[in-house]
Amino acid sequence: MKIKKISVYQKDLPLSEPYWLSGGRLKFEVLDATFVKIETDDGCTGWGEGTPWGHTYVPAHGPGIRAGIQTIAPVLIGADPRQSERIEYVMDKTLPGHPYVKSPIDMACLDIAGQTAGLSLPDLLGGRYETATPVMSSVSSGSPEAMVALIEKYRERGYRGHSAKVGGSDTDLDIQRIRHIEQHRLVDERILYDVNRAWTRREAAIVMNAVADLGVTFEQPCETTNDIKAVRALTTSPISVDETLVSLNDMVRIAHEGIAEVVNIKINRVGGLTKARRIRDVAITHGIQIYVMATGGSVMADTEAAALAQSTPDEFRLGCWACQDMLTVDVAPGTGPRTKNGHLLVPDLPGLGFSPDESLLGDPSAVYRS
Ligand code: MG
Repeated sequence: MKIKKISVYQKDLPLSEPYWLSGGRLKFEVLDATFVKIETDDGCTGWGEGTPWGHTYVPAHGPGIRAGIQTIAPVLIGADPRQSERIEYVMDKTLPGHPYVKSPIDMACLDIAGQTAGLSLPDLLGGRYETATPVMSSVSSGSPEAMVALIEKYRERGYRGHSAKVGGSDTDLDIQRIRHIEQHRLVDERILYDVNRAWTRREAAIVMNAVADLGVTFEQPCETTNDIKAVRALTTSPISVDETLVSLNDMVRIAHEGIAEVVNIKINRVGGLTKARRIRDVAITHGIQIYVMATGGSVMADTEAAALAQSTPDEFRLGCWACQDMLTVDVAPGTGPRTKNGHLLVPDLPGLGFSPDESLLGDPSAVYRS
C-alpha cells in the first residue's frame, strides 16, 4: 500500500461565542482548521485534522500547518501509511520540530491503518475500554457569579467536568472565584482551575496557598516548566502541565523531577497520536493522571483525542474535551461521536469511523500526488 495523493483543505470554524483565555488577555472568535485527505494506490482514504486554538495560544497556527505540509507531503508520496512510526521518522527528518504540522498527517495515516486492520483508533492505540470519557466544559474567565452560571448551563446538558479559566494580576478575585465555584460544586463534579500561564510565580504561590485547604488542581499556573517546578515547591495543591508539554522529553522531565501530578496531552500540539501515545504511556508509568484533548477543531479532532483517552485505563483518564460543541460549523453532520450526557464514546468502527462531508470543505488549497 502506497500513498498516491495528499489533498489539503482550509476551513474556518467560527466559535458560537467569543472566548477569552485566562486573565481575559486573549480573545478568540474563529479557528483556522486544516483537513488532510490521504489516498492510497489501492483505493483507501484516510482523513486528518489540525486546528490550533488561534494564532496566539501556543506557537502553532493554521497557515503554518499548510506551509509545513508543502515541505513534507512530497516525501510521503509512495510511503506506506500503515507504518505510522516510519512516517513519523520521515516527517521528523524532513522538517525537524513543528510537531503541530505533522499531527493531521499522522491522524490520516492511522485512520487508514485502522480501516485496513479492521480496528478502531482506541484498539490501534493499545486496546479500547468501553467506558465513555467525561467531557470537560470550558468555562471562560469572568466574575465568580458568571462562572458559576456558565457551569450550571453545562450541568443542565449533563456535564460533570469543568475547566474553569482563572488567572490574572488580581489574586483576590481569583481566590473569590475559586471559593465561590467550589461552594457551588456538586459532589460528583470535577473542576480543573486552568490558569493558561497567566500567573507570575508570586501570584501562583499566593492563590494556590490561599485555597490549599480545598485540594483543587491547577493547570499551567505559570509560563514555563521551570516556573511550575518552582511553584511546585511552594504549594501542596496538585498541578497539571498543559501548554509546556510538547515533546516526550518534556514528559520524561515532568515525571522524573516530580513537577506535576497531572498532564494535559493536546494531540495537535505534541505532533499526533503516535507521539501522544508514548507521552501517555510515560505518564501512566509514573502514576500521573491525564486529560487528553484537541487543541481545538471539529468532531474529527475531538474523536482523535477521545480515542487516546478511551485506550487509557479509567483510573488514569480524567477527561477529554468537545470543541465541536463550541462551533457554529459542523464538517460531518449526522455522523461521528457526539457529546451524550457529558461524555464522549468512540464507537467500535474501523479507523476514525467516519469522514467529513467533502462538499462542506470546498476545493482543496493544495494537492500533492505521485
Ligand atoms: Mg489548559
